[in-house]
This record gives sequence, structure tokens and C-alpha cells, in this order.
Amino acid sequence: MIQPELFIKTADIIIENKNYLTELDAAIGDGDHGVNLARGFNKLKEKLKAESFESRSELFKLTAMTLISNVGGASGPLYGTAFLNISKVISENELSLDDLIDISEEAIAGIQKRGKAEAGEKTMLDTIIPAAESLKNSRANNLDLNTALNNCLQAAAEGMENTIEMQATKGRASYLGERSIGHQDPGATSAYLMIKTFIENSLK
Ligand code: ADP
Ligand code: MG
Repeated sequence: MIQPELFIKTADIIIENKNYLTELDAAIGDGDHGVNLARGFNKLKEKLKAESFESRSELFKLTAMTLISNVGGASGPLYGTAFLNISKVISENELSLDDLIDISEEAIAGIQKRGKAEAGEKTMLDTIIPAAESLKNSRANNLDLNTALNNCLQAAAEGMENTIEMQATKGRASYLGERSIGHQDPGATSAYLMIKTFIENSLK
């Protein structure tokens, strides 16, 4: 299911977790991650309810533009660029494992073009890169799509949890140096929530 409903669900999950994401950001950043994302996703919900869509590409593009112009903070342009890149390549047919791998690589390329981070720097990429790697492993092992999605979700969760032990070297949390260790990254957490919503709703 890649319809406005999926984005509305994603928006609801982020909005429900606004305080949690903000608390995580208060520990190692400036305490606005949940507030930032909730602002963008509330705006997106308004637009999704008011407009109709001809294609997935259009839907992803609207999501991108809405997040870029309403989120504020580093995460808005980063997620926005990821969704914009996805809008350029996403198939309008039923998505295959190959399609999902292409999409995740485009998302990562967009985030890296803007934010210049690599894996291991305690950012949203530490959830998204392991999720993408898991999809590629599943393809290499000829796993079916449902198994691949379940493994991907597991890899995203582990990636998110692994940020606890990382020292931030990009973004605001990097100002804390070693004191950033011991806290889960807020962006890695919001990325997990988005991936979880996408996967759980596509498995139905
Ligand atoms: P800000 O840091 O401007 O207040 P947010 O609080 O909305 O922005 O988002 C912080 C999150 O953004 C971090 O937890 C991290 O996951 C992500 N982030 C920050 N800088 C980068 C970067 N260069 N590349 C990827 N993700 C980043
Ligand atoms: Mg912040």
C-alpha cells in the first residue's frame, strides 16, 4: 500500500511520538526533533486530506516539499531530500525487492549529498543504511519479499539501538563529543518509526 493513507499513518506515528523524539533530542541536541517533525507531518496531513494524487511519484514529491519547507532543523531538508530522490525513481507498479533496494539507495544518496555523513556517525543513516544492506542481503540469498521486509525491520531496529554506543561526529550532537555516547539518536529513532510504518503496512 503506497497511498495517501500510508503517509497519513506515518504522520500519525511521528505525531504520537513527538514527545519521545523531543526527549531524545533534549539529551544530545536542542530538544526540537519531535516538535520539528510533528510540525511538518501535521502540515502534510492537511495537504493529503485536501488533494488527490495521480501517482506515487507525486505523493512522494509533495511529502518532500512539505517536509523541506515546514520541518526546520537539520532533519527537514535531510528527510525532504530522501523523499524527493525517491519520487524520481519510484515505480507505479507493485514494488519488488529490487525496487525497494533502488528506493533505499536513492534515499541514502540524497541524505548523504546534503549531510555528508557516513555510517557510524550517530545519525538517521545508522538506521537506514543497515535496513538497505539487509534488503541487499535478502536479494543475494533469494529470500521472498515478506521475509526480506521482516529482516529489514529487524536490521533497522538494531541499527537504531546501535546508535546508543556511538559518538556523534555529525550534526548538533557532535558538539557534545564523548558525552553523546549512551543516548539513542533521535533521527535514527524517527527513521526507524518511518521504516516500521512503511513495512508493517506493506505486509498487509
Ligand atoms: P537540529 O539538529 O537542527 O535541531 P533535528 O533535531 O530536527 O535538527 O534533527 C536531528 C537529527 O538529524 C539527528 O538526530 C541526526 O539523526 C540527524 N542529522 C543531523 N545531521 C545529520 C547529517 N549530517 N546527516 C544525517 N543525519 C543528520
Ligand atoms: Mg534538534
